Amino acid sequence: MKPKYFDVHSHVSFSDYDKDRDEVLDRMKADGVASIIVGVDFKSSEGALKLAELHENLYASIGVHPADNRKETFDPKKYETLVNNPNVVAIGECGLDYFRIDENDVDEKNRQRNIFLTQIDFAAKNKKAMMLHCRPRRGTFDTYLETLETLEEKKKEYGDKLFGNVHFFVGNTAIARRFYDINFTTSFTGVITFAHNYDDTIRAAPINMLLSETDCPFATPVPFRGKRNEPIYVEKVVRRIAEIRGEDFETVRGALVENAYRVFSIDIN
Ligand SMILES: [Zn+2]
Repeated sequence: MKPKYFDVHSHVSFSDYDKDRDEVLDRMKADGVASIIVGVDFKSSEGALKLAELHENLYASIGVHPADNRKETFDPKKYETLVNNPNVVAIGECGLDYFRIDENDVDEKNRQRNIFLTQIDFAAKNKKAMMLHCRPRRGTFDTYLETLETLEEKKKEYGDKLFGNVHFFVGNTAIARRFYDINFTTSFTGVITFAHNYDDTIRAAPINMLLSETDCPFATPVPFRGKRNEPIYVEKVVRRIAEIRGEDFETVRGALVENAYRVFSIDIN
């Protein structure tokens, strides 16, 4: 059955949900919420896939986060054992995260870059969507500009095989447009329910290039701030996107579900 909402980026496999994961999943089913459970290293990628295999409304993204687990690298051989499972719909979350590092830390930037490049090649070769995490240094768009340069160059080599979504988008309208031009969508979190920095970008975006997400357990939307986030709250994000754009809620809701199906090549039945 087609879901009512699609949370394209959640971490229900994290230990934050160990005590009540079944209830969280039951609430998702009751509300018609589908989600991509996103891995940040090999262990959480396996965990995401395990959940996706057990539940019809769940899918998995597998890969290595740029900064969550600095000891781990992306070994394509290990991930090849998972990637052909039909429940795997994306590679990541991967990308660049300069939020907490020194501007001149070339070693760390190179480390992140190498892991990212391996995952770009892996995603394109397996024709999977990329789930991008690009967190810039405060007051800059450094990781977005670096990611765009890399992807625009890789696009020449991979063409249609290179595509995906930029999760937790905090760039500006011009940056979003450059991502749309190379077939990358942008997804927004509960942050848009209390910050207005992204309203213009959300208004300017073609509706087919927008996706909804929670990034739970983080980024809890209004009116649940201060509580742990969970996928059913994606409804607040969808409502806010419709409100910002001044469009009919039902139309936006349906479009965002369709977009998720298209980007992650999920069969609509
Ligand atoms: Zn995440």
